Amino acid sequence: MSNAMPLPLYAIGLGSNRRHARYGDPRAVLLAALAALVSDDIEAVDASPIIASDPLGPSRRRYANAVALVASQLSPPEMLVRLQEIEANFGRRTGQRWSARTLDLDILLWSGGAWSDASLKIPHPAMAQRAFVLGPLRAIAPEWQHPLTGRSIRQLAARLTRPKPVDRGASAH
Ligand code: ADP
Ligand code: MG
Repeated sequence: MSNAMPLPLYAIGLGSNRRHARYGDPRAVLLAALAALVSDDIEAVDASPIIASDPLGPSRRRYANAVALVASQLSPPEMLVRLQEIEANFGRRTGQRWSARTLDLDILLWSGGAWSDASLKIPHPAMAQRAFVLGPLRAIAPEWQHPLTGRSIRQLAARLTRPKPVDRGASAH
């Protein structure tokens, strides 16, 4: 087979806010997760710096977040299964959405475009509102266009950090 066709690209979001007995602090967990992600059929392309961000929801622990670009022929559902296996290997507790989690892996973007079924939505629905996603993603893929809005990651990140005009008449939402 010719190798002229480039492999599809995925942007994978990594988050951790819990120490791991073997790997250590959340930052070390992300480095270990990156290593675990790379395999026969998942190639590392690039990785963002790891950032520290404030907790989301009731958990009080700070998060470490990063984004990796990987190339893979795996379909989006196959990639999701792979990510969930890695999460399970890192001891993630399921069922408690905002609890301390050792490792959270999300598919943010796929070069194949959009995907939507009952268990998987690409682009990740919350990515455009999350600075801890857009910041690291901008460091490695600023020109990637969000397939539903057509806006680049650079533009989405700028929209998020731009101060919003105060509208005293509107209800807070
Ligand atoms: P979040 O990542 O939003 O904090 P969870 O990791 O707890 O929440 O959500 C996990 C569920 O989200 C999975 O069961 C998976 O089926 C679903 N899901 C939908 N779209 C995606 C995506 N793009 N990446 C990862 N999981 C997704
Ligand atoms: Mg997740």
